[in-house]
Amino acid sequence: MIPRSQPSVQSTDGDSGHWQAQLRQSTMTAAQLLAKLQIEPSPALAARGQDQFPLRVPPAFLARIRRGDPHDPLLRQVLPLAAEDSENAGFSHDPVGEGAAQKQPGLLHKYHGRVLLTLTGACAIHCRYCFRRHFPYADANPARGAWQQTLDYLRADTSITEVILSGGDPLALTDARLAAMAADLAAISHLKRLRIHSRLPVVLPERITAELLDWLTASRLKPVLVVHSNHANEIGPEAVAALQRLYRSGIQLLNQAVLLAGVNDNARALIDLSETLFENNVLPYYLHMLDAVAGAAHFNVSDAAAGELLEQLRTRLPGYLVPRLVREVSGEPYKTPLL
Ligand SMILES: *Cc1c(COP(=O)(O)O)cnc(C)c1O
Ligand code: SF4
Repeated sequence: MIPRSQPSVQSTDGDSGHWQAQLRQSTMTAAQLLAKLQIEPSPALAARGQDQFPLRVPPAFLARIRRGDPHDPLLRQVLPLAAEDSENAGFSHDPVGEGAAQKQPGLLHKYHGRVLLTLTGACAIHCRYCFRRHFPYADANPARGAWQQTLDYLRADTSITEVILSGGDPLALTDARLAAMAADLAAISHLKRLRIHSRLPVVLPERITAELLDWLTASRLKPVLVVHSNHANEIGPEAVAALQRLYRSGIQLLNQAVLLAGVNDNARALIDLSETLFENNVLPYYLHMLDAVAGAAHFNVSDAAAGELLEQLRTRLPGYLVPRLVREVSGEPYKTPLL
């Protein structure tokens, strides 16, 4: 194992100031986004859905979108299309039954041994396919007041060995708050692992600060970071550097992607994603079928098409670079494999 870097007390303020400044420079309207990308506005490229789930694109992600191409696979993930406004049978506001799995504000206990905490509703990027776009975060946030109650719940159930920090994006919180939470969790002796699900290493690589690496690697809990990347084009030089800092700190890196029509629903894109991830020491973990969330039907890929894609990946890649194709089915004891 490569030794940890020096404690970073000297550089911390600069670090966090930098990622927060980057975040403030996000593009927040479709008109601005299209202008920056030199794309002509058109009726198909503007949805009312923006009112409840506004557009948000951080600078590093913007830099990875091709200029002048309305069909760019990264653009499609963030641009509210008019198609969002259409009603589609079977697409609802709580597609994976999170309501029932919520045992306390922001605490989801759905699978054996693992508890997922939705720490914040904030994200650095707003992904149009996101199933959390309708989630009532304001009342579902253990970081806001219910933290002692969360710790009590975790202490009382010794079958829990892993806590998953999720959101929103948990890395939207400051390192000071996350470090304090991690310390509280590490004091619960039956916990073994601390897992973070975040899109920030890829979409806001500046977020991978020395402070973050410090508290994460100082913990007794084994750290796992599941990055969310859907397309190899997302992984530019800054993301490569961020992933390298994480890897060198000894953090287990996995990726989860969502299978999205018009973004990554072809074998070439999925193979490139797996290859690029592995070059950066990230193992493909899950490839999720889209959750049937209202406003995202235009991203849907059929089971038959998904199965064929997976078959092509299996034919072309080593087994460890083939992600598990899964779907979230409410009431099931694990994420359900499609094949
Ligand atoms: C996805 C998920 C997990 C983690 O499942 P793994 O199969 O361990 O990755 C845990 N809790 C909830 C509520 C989840 O949605
Ligand atoms: S929770 Fe994840 S998928 Fe949803 S908007 Fe935030 S970053 Fe995107």
